[in-house]
Amino acid sequence: MKKTILILLGCFFCASAAQAQLKVVTASTDLKYICEQVGGPEVKVESLASGDQDLHMVEPRPSMVFKLKKADMVVRVGLDLDMWMDSLINAARNKALFYGAPGYVDASAGVPLLEKPEGKVDASMGDIHIYGNPHYWLDPANAKKVAQNIKAGLKRLRPEKAEFFEGNCSAFEREVDARLTGWERRMAPLKGLKVVTYHSSWPYFARRFGLEVVGHVEPKPGIPPTASHLDELVKLMKRDGVRVILSESYYPRKGPDFLAARTGAELVQAPVSTGGAKGVATYFDVFDTVIAGIEKAAAR
Ligand SMILES: [Zn+2]
Repeated sequence: MKKTILILLGCFFCASAAQAQLKVVTASTDLKYICEQVGGPEVKVESLASGDQDLHMVEPRPSMVFKLKKADMVVRVGLDLDMWMDSLINAARNKALFYGAPGYVDASAGVPLLEKPEGKVDASMGDIHIYGNPHYWLDPANAKKVAQNIKAGLKRLRPEKAEFFEGNCSAFEREVDARLTGWERRMAPLKGLKVVTYHSSWPYFARRFGLEVVGHVEPKPGIPPTASHLDELVKLMKRDGVRVILSESYYPRKGPDFLAARTGAELVQAPVSTGGAKGVATYFDVFDTVIAGIEKAAAR
């Protein structure tokens, strides 16, 4: 009898402790990392995509719907990068996560966007990003805005913990600023370095750190390279003296390897998200790794 009561009590405390944590589902691992920094022990966060996955094309799975059914909050990259989440949120029928609900967070809100298409967008442009370039987290400064958006969501759901979230968010922003100073110092000698990137994932990174993106391995967004496009790129890279090719770690190596062999440029296989490569355990590790790769390639 006594034992049963103890077990029951134990279960009760487990259950109430688990209930106390807000269940958050994020689209990407970077959003997960930032949410954990702001939410601390108040949140339990799961990312739908893994760090080495191409966020343009995540295949919806029943397990993802299941996660969203149980979630209190969802955090999206926004714009058109994670449109695959729409059908998942609908399938989960969890009203707390619907657009405009307190548990809905669009991490891109308020981030100044680059590459907004002008004029009419049509199919001839490939999988162009119709609202502007959504790869904004590759400028660490934008992570501060992301953290603030997440903080606002957490405060809506747990107003009594507002001060705690505020403190965590400020600490995260200070860490971003401190690290950014170091990264900018490292990249300063490479100002104006011309690079070719696989996809246009890097305009925010390039602007922040003074790189010049002169071409893409993709002839158009989402379209694999053709032989004629690669030949044109070889000419352009030779003319402009491009020494570095930056390729998101999930893209095939064939195109970049061809360019590297023809031009002598160095290929940097770069993680674009937390968990995107071995040793890239945090959002900050992404920049440590990419910048180290660029330094090494440019020094050759
Ligand atoms: Zn893209």
